Amino acid sequence: MLVSVIVPCFNESAVIEATLERLAQVMEGCGHGSDYSYELIFIDDGSRDDTLDKLKKAAQKDGHVRYISFSRNFGKEAAMLAGLTYASGDCVVIMDADLQHPPEMIPEMLYWYGQGYDQVIARRNRKGDKKRSAFMAHLYYRLVNHIVDVKMMDGVGDFRLLSRKAVNGLLAMQEYNRFSKGLFSWIGFKEKIIEYENVQRAAGETKWSFKRLLSYGIDGLISFNNKPLRICFVMGGILVFISFIYILITLVQILLHGIDVPGYFTTICAILIIGGVQLISVGVLGEYIGRIYYEVKHRPHFLVADTNLEDAGKAEKRNYDR
Ligand code: UDP
Ligand code: MG
Repeated sequence: MLVSVIVPCFNESAVIEATLERLAQVMEGCGHGSDYSYELIFIDDGSRDDTLDKLKKAAQKDGHVRYISFSRNFGKEAAMLAGLTYASGDCVVIMDADLQHPPEMIPEMLYWYGQGYDQVIARRNRKGDKKRSAFMAHLYYRLVNHIVDVKMMDGVGDFRLLSRKAVNGLLAMQEYNRFSKGLFSWIGFKEKIIEYENVQRAAGETKWSFKRLLSYGIDGLISFNNKPLRICFVMGGILVFISFIYILITLVQILLHGIDVPGYFTTICAILIIGGVQLISVGVLGEYIGRIYYEVKHRPHFLVADTNLEDAGKAEKRNYDR
């Protein structure tokens, strides 16, 4: 059995050595029997610090270490896709480089994989997180689960083990706008959830600004189905209905009492509400069209600048053949 561990890294110089060491230690300890081997694939997502140098050094020392270096920063989704594409393991573990995903969970994941599960998902609690962000996340997941038809769970991230079947399922989806949380849930298969204690980042800083979080949130809402479009349609319908009733009432009043001129308030209300609803709807439409625009270009998800993988060409072809 070959286990691949894929680790996306972007400017992780401060912690990458510690991660390498702990990961290697855990993976060495996992070996039950002679048919066990592992590979550690680090995807350097266009880091601007010396992450790549450190990875190269590690690869020279440890034959299990592979690296793939992108030509620029393509984002974590692209980095994970690259990892999945290049991984040759019977099962694949995805984890962050900042030790927020404790490598010590991997043996347990492998145990459940051995029990026949295709996705072993590590779920963190929100201990130590800011109260406000935990609350916002809770609200967000309630909203999203109402709208989107795949199930998304709070505390569940990319830290998970995937069987070869699950990996192939993910690779079959070559869409440009990748929203992993949704994709993981979409493929299905037998899932096992295991819990772990929330850990704060070991060193370095998070790449998630508020703006990035917001746009990620919108991605989650939009990228799975056309319900937001349907909501616009329903909003329009409700408005038309209300307007119709209002027109009827006004008409009756005119017939009974004649036309009275004052009507500034109602006019302004109507303009504002209808204008607002129209703008939101156009915005939602635009989001979808924007996505179509990116999809039809069929651009590769990432470009590889440097790697020590031997069969890199094969996987690269797949990336370009979209
Ligand atoms: N990451 C990446 N490309 C990016 C941003 C992040 O590969 O553009 C990696 C990063 O190195 C880390 C993981 O994705 O291994 C999660 O990032 P981070 O710790 O900043 O996110 P958080 O844990 O705060 O959600
Ligand atoms: Mg992190």
